[in-house]
Amino acid sequence: MSMNAPAVIFAHRHADLEALTGLAAGVGLFDAFLPCSGERQLFDLLEHREPAMILFACAAEQVDALLWLKILGKRDRWKDIPVTVFAGDDQLDARVAALELGACEVLSLATPLREISARLHRRMKQRQEMIRLKKSREDLARVALTDSLTGLCNRAFFDVTLESEAARSARTGLPYSLLMIDVDHFKWVNDTYGHQLGDTVLQGIARVLKRSVRKSDMACRYGGEEFALILPETDIPAAQVLAVRIHREIAVLAASYDHFRHPLTVSIGISCGSGKEQADPALLIEKADCALYAAKRNGRNRTEIFNLGKMDFSPAEARDLRPPSNLRM
Ligand code: GH3
Ligand code: MG
Ligand code: MG
Repeated sequence: MSMNAPAVIFAHRHADLEALTGLAAGVGLFDAFLPCSGERQLFDLLEHREPAMILFACAAEQVDALLWLKILGKRDRWKDIPVTVFAGDDQLDARVAALELGACEVLSLATPLREISARLHRRMKQRQEMIRLKKSREDLARVALTDSLTGLCNRAFFDVTLESEAARSARTGLPYSLLMIDVDHFKWVNDTYGHQLGDTVLQGIARVLKRSVRKSDMACRYGGEEFALILPETDIPAAQVLAVRIHREIAVLAASYDHFRHPLTVSIGISCGSGKEQADPALLIEKADCALYAAKRNGRNRTEIFNLGKMDFSPAEARDLRPPSNLRM
């Protein structure tokens, strides 16, 4: 089992460094060795290298010299690097301190090479298993937050993000905007061209949205054929510029589908919140909904901005205009 990663060989004394390097080579686990003779050098090295293991020879008089383990344990990037400390049987304090400070193995330079090798192989196997589990946990988290059809963030992720954006806006006083986007006459698209092309169109719209927004924005599939964009630190005029671009890009998208003879358009509602009173996320959604339904009423393929004075119905009425969410698919 080769780790394809170097081992850091750490010892304050030159003789220990040599002995440890010879021993590590005999274990046959590592592709390269990075010698290191002081804490400073170790941390510099860890800034740009990710070793498979740190092997440390602890000299008899150096219990204090184990305190670097404490620093290692406090850094997220470093805390999972396995550390094997070599200390003699007569160095009980150092051996115990090493274990307490997070070393995964304490051995002696006098331990037979076969035993050292067996122990280190077992440690590396455990580490690989841990890395695999960590990755699958991350994959699961990603799946749980992603819409499977479009690859955009899903509704659950949207809700959490909107909540934290609202809190940030309340704190900073900076505005943030919400765009609610609903595909026009999408039922007709499905009925005419089939559900499968309908799905392809939704994927195309998702791609348009994804590449239209900034890295700090969030594009989400809100449900069915509805999408939502969260735009941090964005006021209404800036959100409007984006909406115009989206209308234009979706018109271009329609032309890319063979046999598609139907104007593909969306209606967009924009709301903007800032400061403590305005930043309530539920209110922002209601306002964007309200504006979206005004866009539908006013002929579709257009953007409306929530403006209380101008809306001829209230957020509550906008909610009533929508089909219940369980029927929206
Ligand atoms: P409007 O302009 O008023 O929004 O009309 P509409 O036809 O888009 O509105 P309606 O809410 O009546 O229809 C939404 C349609 O979206 C109906 C549903 O079959 C379709 N839809 C929702 N989710 C999906 C999906 O995942 N795939 C496909 N192909 N269609 C979907
Ligand atoms: Mg809809
Ligand atoms: Mg629709």
